Amino acid sequence: MADGIAFIDGEYVPAHEARISIFDVGFTRGDAVYDTVSVWKGVFFRLDDHVARFLRSCGGMRLRCPHPPAELERILAECVDRAGLQDAYVQMIVTRGRFADLADRDPRHCLNRFIGFALPYIWIISPEKQARGINLVIAPNRRTPTEAIDPRIKNFNWMDLERALFEALDRGGDTGVLCAPDGYLTEGPGFNLFLIKDGTLWTPRTNVLEGITRRTVFELAAEVGLATREGDLPPDALRSADEAFLSSTAGGIMPVSQVDGRALQSGRPGPLTTRLRALYWEKREAGWLGTPVKELLTR
Ligand code: PLP
Repeated sequence: MADGIAFIDGEYVPAHEARISIFDVGFTRGDAVYDTVSVWKGVFFRLDDHVARFLRSCGGMRLRCPHPPAELERILAECVDRAGLQDAYVQMIVTRGRFADLADRDPRHCLNRFIGFALPYIWIISPEKQARGINLVIAPNRRTPTEAIDPRIKNFNWMDLERALFEALDRGGDTGVLCAPDGYLTEGPGFNLFLIKDGTLWTPRTNVLEGITRRTVFELAAEVGLATREGDLPPDALRSADEAFLSSTAGGIMPVSQVDGRALQSGRPGPLTTRLRALYWEKREAGWLGTPVKELLTR
């Protein structure tokens, strides 16, 4: 089943057949949390880390995941296996669910619902574009600050991120990165941001999702002897960086070669970025920090 499998209402169905109610508050108000994990060559990457973050997200929005972690992992593995996928984009979601009756507006009365699915692996930036490096636009709109909508809780409130994507596409860019109201760089639709300046790897300190790939980048950087820092980075730090890249479960380490249409240094993916990216995929091919789908099915 190449187009994917979803698990919904306790059943496995073809992904395109999965449906939710128009009265699910996850749909009407974006009242839902999710997490996305990848499978490469039949092996989940850092599955326990993704599940732990997902359960923290549920707690942060007072949502209850009806499945304990081991059961959740098994359901996701089942989706991948039934879909017959080796390289997959796998998502777990808990939505608020429906109000017990439509005149009731007490969220404590909703029956939270779990949905999982596995699709063929998704690249938010295609490998062809990654080879050239992308044009990253610094979006004019702001990222909602942590005090308003906590980005560490992976949630469906994407209005600011979607707008940034439209703004970037309108300007001929590939995607957009947002600053918070304090003016410092944050992240973008589906990715964290890194830049390299004078041999140090920098990433925004606040108003970001604590990305699992971001954490992985720190570890890879340590392996190649590259110093890493989290900091408050103004847009000019990006414009004058030696190198920059994005990180995401859906695409890995993605080189930036232009900012707002202007070449970053050589206008090609930088050497340290290229090295980190190669190392990331080399290790993924070898099943690094992985749990085989098949192993989960026999647990
Ligand atoms: N930031 C945002 C807003 C995201 O949606 C994502 C991933 O989907 C990321 C960062 C990257 O996180 P991860 O590396 O865990 O995929």
